[in-house]
Amino acid sequence: MVTFTHEFKTDSFQGKTSFPTGLFIDGEWREGGDKTTIDVVNPTTGKVLTSIPEATPKDVDIAVKAAQKAFDTVWGLNASGAQRAELLMKLAQLMEKHADELSAIEAIDNGKTFTWAKNVDIAFSIQTIKYYAGWADKISGQTIETDEKKLIYTRHEPIGVVGQIIPWNFPLLMFSWKIAPALATGNTIVLKHIERVARLVGSRVVRPHMGLPAFVLAPERRRAGSKGLNRWECAVVVRLQYCSFLRECTRCAQWVCASDARMRCCPPNLPPLTALRMTSLIKEAGFPPGVVNVLVGYGPTVGQAISEHMDIQKVAFTGSTLVGRKIMAAAASSNLKNVTLELGGKSPNIIFDDADLEQAVNWAAHGIFWNHGQACCAGSRIFVQEGIYDKFLQMFTERTKNINVGDPFSPGVDQGPQVSQLQYDRIMGYIESGKKDGATVHVGGNRHGTEGYFIEPTIFTNTTPEMKIVKEEIFGPVGVVIKFKDEADVLRQANDTVYGLAAAVFSQNINRALETAHKLQAGTAWVNCVNQLHANVPFGGFKQSGIGRELGEYALHNYTNVKAVHVNLGHRM
Ligand code: NAD
Repeated sequence: MVTFTHEFKTDSFQGKTSFPTGLFIDGEWREGGDKTTIDVVNPTTGKVLTSIPEATPKDVDIAVKAAQKAFDTVWGLNASGAQRAELLMKLAQLMEKHADELSAIEAIDNGKTFTWAKNVDIAFSIQTIKYYAGWADKISGQTIETDEKKLIYTRHEPIGVVGQIIPWNFPLLMFSWKIAPALATGNTIVLKHIERVARLVGSRVVRPHMGLPAFVLAPERRRAGSKGLNRWECAVVVRLQYCSFLRECTRCAQWVCASDARMRCCPPNLPPLTALRMTSLIKEAGFPPGVVNVLVGYGPTVGQAISEHMDIQKVAFTGSTLVGRKIMAAAASSNLKNVTLELGGKSPNIIFDDADLEQAVNWAAHGIFWNHGQACCAGSRIFVQEGIYDKFLQMFTERTKNINVGDPFSPGVDQGPQVSQLQYDRIMGYIESGKKDGATVHVGGNRHGTEGYFIEPTIFTNTTPEMKIVKEEIFGPVGVVIKFKDEADVLRQANDTVYGLAAAVFSQNINRALETAHKLQAGTAWVNCVNQLHANVPFGGFKQSGIGRELGEYALHNYTNVKAVHVNLGHRM
């Protein structure tokens, strides 16, 4: 077992944290089957914070067995709703007690500002756990009338062992959204926490929405082999089969340069620390061993093993559309497990000429720059009606320039670093592609500072619909502002995307706002606000943004099987 200890002496939090890390299986902390580790990096400095044990597919098997045993003996139909509610409430109380510590870990590990982490990530995680604690003893079916000689009722039974796979952008919040409804309904869990796999970076490289590794290299590089190229460029070359120095990493399934012995195949950047601290609180709350099992490992190994495991009955995934496809394929080719997917987005934010302009500007900035743009529902396409376009742009520019980028622990800072070198490179790649495609960088467009992974809040104008910065999810502080004529024009453009996660409309004419909201193809439509989420309101996507809903009563349906029981009271054969 490895203990992570850190002393915070920051402007926002002074205190110490110390907690075990490793694989949490059957109520115990363990090393991974191969005894390997993964580095955790502080994105503010780019320096390694700690190394933690890495899970392997063999560990998934062990965790599934522990979860099945717990389901059959102490959880599932063996624990009453009231018992489950009590444990969830205890967990929420422990999170409240440790809210400052959790916020500080989130800031150092993920780069979120301490204040946002505390007010949003930690507060909302606690609300979510409490909300589902309230549901745990209220899971009930229906009595269905047929005739007087029959009694028919339904039971909403837990599914069994469920697999959960989550991303890095809201580490604690995604953890809470996943475990709370699953535990409230009586399931046991094998959850794979985050790592940041080396998905190939750079705008030339990734076209995630196509679901294809569509790698394109500048022509002059194509025959350069691995000599003189950095590892990402090597990776591109090998996909095109021009380089013989490369091999596929068996851990992260990416291509790496075998000629450079010093090179690490899997970049050290992942933010799993809050979730591991939370796991120690789960143990302290008294959940029986095996009910919650938490693994940190790579997607193509541990994530894949969960998706195709024959004894996992359901998999709930949050992450990119590209990986969502793989999860579905693995589920289909194994035991046809039930699948829910919460995927990416490219959300439109529509500002009509009768909007309260000052409010629209403030919300639009929050829409795209919240969490440094690393939000699935980020309002990254801002459509502004032609009559107010110039005024809006002037006010939005001022607002964007006032965003304070800096140390996540400094009071008054709005935006910390991007989560990792990999994300930083990927976002800068998109900015370069926007410039190359002929869009105008209206604000920002550069690195901020010289250390860590900071990027200036960036706005592009003069875009065209086929540009990558307009079509693809950038997942960074980069928005495009697009002029539109009327309702028909903006609806056509707003819905012209493979995604359908969220959308927003700003207008003081309620009929116009609601008519537009109803015609937008999105799982959430905000009117005169953005990025509003509540534990009791469902959240999820249309189109390629997902299947199923998180939060609210709807999420309970993801975790129960409905059984109809027919009781014969007098029909004779
Ligand atoms: P990602 O898809 O790269 O990774 C998500 C998780 O999947 C990680 O834990 C990763 O290890 C795992 N994974 C990778 N390959 C796998 C495989 N072959 N089999 C199984 N698991 C595998 O996404 P990310 O970059 O970590 O997160 C960003 C994405 O998540 C964005 O697209 C964002 O929009 C989306 N997201 C969606 C929501 C939502 O609620 N809709 C919320 C947050 C983030």
